[in-house]
Parts: sequence; C-alpha cells; structure tokens
Amino acid sequence: MVTQSEKRLKILLISTSVGPLGSGIGGGVELTLHNIAKTLTQRNHEIRIVAPGGSVCGSFPVVEISGELQFTAQGEGRDALIALPKNSVLANMWDYARQVQDRYDVLVNFAYDWLPFYLTPFFPCPIAHLVSMGSLTDAMDQIIGQMAAQFPGTIGVHSRTQAETFSFADHCRVIGNGFDLSLYQFCPEPENVLGWVGRIAPEKGLEDAVAVAQETGIPLKIWGILQEVAYWHDICDQFPDAPVSYEGFLPTAELQHALGKCRALLMTPRWVEAFGNVVIESLACGVPVIAYRRGGPAEIIQDGKTGWLVEPDHIAGLVTAIAQLDQIDRHTCRQQVELDYSLEALGDRLEQWFGELLAGRELVIGGRW
Ligand code: UDP
Repeated sequence: MVTQSEKRLKILLISTSVGPLGSGIGGGVELTLHNIAKTLTQRNHEIRIVAPGGSVCGSFPVVEISGELQFTAQGEGRDALIALPKNSVLANMWDYARQVQDRYDVLVNFAYDWLPFYLTPFFPCPIAHLVSMGSLTDAMDQIIGQMAAQFPGTIGVHSRTQAETFSFADHCRVIGNGFDLSLYQFCPEPENVLGWVGRIAPEKGLEDAVAVAQETGIPLKIWGILQEVAYWHDICDQFPDAPVSYEGFLPTAELQHALGKCRALLMTPRWVEAFGNVVIESLACGVPVIAYRRGGPAEIIQDGKTGWLVEPDHIAGLVTAIAQLDQIDRHTCRQQVELDYSLEALGDRLEQWFGELLAGRELVIGGRW
C-alpha cells in the first residue's frame, strides 16, 4: 500500500508578493521557500515555483509573474486596511494558480496577505498556508482564523511562540524550518567580532546591537538589506563612534563564510520574530546566538548551551551574555541544528503536513474541497 508520505506529489509553491526571490525584500521567506523546494525535490515530489518577475531561486526554474509589488505588512497599525496596488502581482500570481491548479495536488502559499486566505474556499485544489509572521493586524487575524476553522490543518507556522500571537494558536501546525547544512561551514576559531544579520528595519531593533558595540568596544559587522534607509541613518547619528560596519546583503555562501568568524550573533528584535532563520544559519557555523527572550529565537536557542537568552530590550543583559561566551561550546551549536533543523527534518514535517491535509480532504470530498 502506498501511504500518503510515499506518494509523489505535485506541489505549486506560490511566493511572497513583496519582492522578487533573491532580492532580500522578502526576508526569511525567500530562503525558506528555496529550502522547501530543495527538500521536496530530493524526495521526488514535483514542484514548481511561482514568484514576482525578476525572481531567482538557486537552480530552480521560476514562473515569473509581472505586476506591482505588495507593500510590506510590518509597521502597519492593528487596524490597517487591506490594500492592493493596481495590476497587483499578488492577484496576478493567484490568477495563474487558479488557471493551473488542476495539475497539482496542493498549492502552498508563502504570502502573508489577505487575498490567498480569502480565496481558499474558491479553489478546488487544497491550499496549505505557511504563515511567516505573528499577529500584525486585525484584518489578517480574522481571515487566517476563519480559514483555520473552515479548513482544519491548512495553517502552518514556524514556531509555537508565533502561533500563540494568534487567538487560533491551537489550529496552527508548527513546521519549524530546515536548512541545507552542507552549505554552512563550521568555524572553530572566531575573530573578536560580533555579528548582526537581518533586514535593516525598526522591528529588527538593530540599534540595541549597535549600543552593545559602543559599550563593549567589540566590532559589530552588519549584514542585510537596507530596507529603511532613514532608520539606518538615525542609528548612525545616534551612535557615531560605535565600531560598526555595514557589510551589505550577501548570498548564503558568502554570508556563512563571514558569519562563521563571529564570536556571537546578536539578535535584538522588537517584535515577536516568527522563527529567525539567521539563528539556525549562525548555529550551523558554530556561532552562538545571544537573543532577547522573545519569539522564535527563544524557542530555538538553548540558554547557556548554544547561546544566551536575555531579558527583552535590556542592553546590559546583552553585555553580560557576551562576557559569558567562553562557556559555550561551538560544536554544540552545530550539533543542535543538525538534529532538528536539517533539510531532512523539514522534509519529514512537510510530508506529514501535506499527507494529513490531503487525507483530511478525502474525508470532506463533496464538502468544501
Ligand atoms: N540574508 C541573506 N544575506 C544577508 C543577510 C540576510 O541572505 O546578507 C537572509 C538570511 O539568510 C535569512 C533572511 O535574510 O534567510 C532573514 O530572515 P529572518 O528569518 O532572520 O528574518 P525576516 O527578514 O524574515 O524577518
């Protein structure tokens, strides 16, 4: 008998609409989609990627869709309205999905946008939604919650903490994440430098890491897309003498090489980080992570073993943690991610998710799906 997890599936991966894959604008979603494409392909599933024009996703072909990019959802108030630009790439991608859906067993939505959730009941093909952020607006909470109730098992999240930002946490399935660890080299001997990796935007709290560099005198290297230039200039004005350098946005191969040389990665987000891809990428290089005890990183980092968890928004706590870095064994950092965050571990969780979703669907055939 062929079980659901052994069956070869045809899967359409529908990307975020805020930026082309490879641009960095989509944040962690871009690497997540790439990693999911890799692990599903390795397991002989047939995948196809749909993304905004100009997208590059490793060696995978991409169906490029034209149209205007969606605005990013971070930084909007709770009562932000749903808005779409004219000739919306989001709408165009989902129109493409509508036309080809009968060739697929499941569609996977990577966009944190209202439209794909709203469209779910109108599509005969099942849609799995991988939600990449915690609760941000009432309108998004309402539509995701509605689909969680109407189509049980279709809402995937990256961490339990992320799920708990929603009132429907119990209906969310935690998928975590997984990485091609062969791309990340273990670096046993760091230099006396700290790292910070992320989109340079207010919710990422870069200013706290810069404050630490100023206080300790330890150089801080910063990698990531300059999403909010005015925010970056404010930080530079606030800490003119801090020993920091902006190193640009690097592809994974170069990023991991540079990141591996750091004594630690600082993660200082103001928001509930859904997961924090950079935590795993850092640990994979043997670099401990010092993070605020908030969101996904607090679920991943083993306090005192693979990094330190610090009281949120507490710069003195970050400084104390740096003084205790000698207690962390860099090999333990690498071992932790090999166990839970490999591509294989992610592939297992995805196959279980799709398998249960499709089995559930068979039960409701003649019903909504
Ligand atoms: N990243 C990158 N090059 C850089 C800096 C960052 O490719 O120079 C990628 C990093 O690999 C990660 C993403 O940017 O996948 C940031 O994702 P994360 O989940 O940490 O945060 P998000 O941006 O989704 O809030």
